[in-house]
Amino acid sequence: MKKDNSDLSTSLEKLYSEQVEEGFISPTIVKQVRSLQVIPNTQNTHFFHLQFNPARAKRGIAEKQNPNPIHTIPYKDGVPCFLCQDNIQYQWPNEKWVSKNLNNRLFHFYPNPSPIFPHHFTVASHEHRGQSIDFSTNLHLLDILPNYWIIQNGEGAGATNPWHFHFQIFTTLKQLPLSVTPSLYSHSISLGDTTCILERLDLPLPVFKFQFKPSSPHKRYQGYSYIQEFLQSTLQHFYNIHPDNRINIITINRSLGTVDIYIALRNKGVRTDMYVSGQPGYAEIAGIVSTIRESDTKRWLQKGYGLYQQLLSDISIPESQYAPFEQSLLSLVE
Ligand SMILES: [Zn+2]
Repeated sequence: MKKDNSDLSTSLEKLYSEQVEEGFISPTIVKQVRSLQVIPNTQNTHFFHLQFNPARAKRGIAEKQNPNPIHTIPYKDGVPCFLCQDNIQYQWPNEKWVSKNLNNRLFHFYPNPSPIFPHHFTVASHEHRGQSIDFSTNLHLLDILPNYWIIQNGEGAGATNPWHFHFQIFTTLKQLPLSVTPSLYSHSISLGDTTCILERLDLPLPVFKFQFKPSSPHKRYQGYSYIQEFLQSTLQHFYNIHPDNRINIITINRSLGTVDIYIALRNKGVRTDMYVSGQPGYAEIAGIVSTIRESDTKRWLQKGYGLYQQLLSDISIPESQYAPFEQSLLSLVE
């Protein structure tokens, strides 16, 4: 185990290269992650990336099963929790990690053996506790890893293992559709003592973008906690749902310290026949569809952007339902 307290980014890069050299992450997968096909809509105004990545089929499958796990996943026939370190050590003996304290909690950065993105890591708490949307840790990660995108899926929004608290982080090769999608509107909103720009993205799924311009860290963190409280109160008030469950959060550090926070509101756990198992998560919202079978790739190529639009609207909270949430946000316009 490696302990890093200085330059986390350098340690992660080094670990990743070692794990590729050692064959834990196959060089073929690294190539697949870098080969993306752009699928535009007919007007060429929107697009998504298609990735053929059969290695994804192996995710969650252990090399050997731990016979005496401390924690298991009850709804998955009691398989050992695949983000608990004792199980990882047993099940993936070649997996290595970097550890760091974030917000007084110990986390381990594990290279993802079936990545979707370059330098794709799962950042899991040492402690086995349920998934919980945590802006503070998410944004702390962004501050110390400004070249990474930081992601969190809620329990009902594509988290593969919602029984163990975790984030995903990765670097990007090129601009992902999410970061260049046009906005339907843009307003300056007031968040207590601070302000940010609110935008609603032109996607068939309500994605709200909060952009913080460079300011003192104290002010930014005040703004972040305002958003977290706002989500908690409005989502519970209007829909009786907890943000831990039905949202995806994607945060990006733009150049010169401008921070973008994307929040996607999701419908009740949706499974779709477009996927062999599980449900879509942040990757699809960020604009990458990763297929594990050639027949699925063919289908996506045939149907093109229309199928992606369908997927996003399938996983979206219905328009009639998110209007009150949006109105509450717009009441903050200065
Ligand atoms: Zn666990």
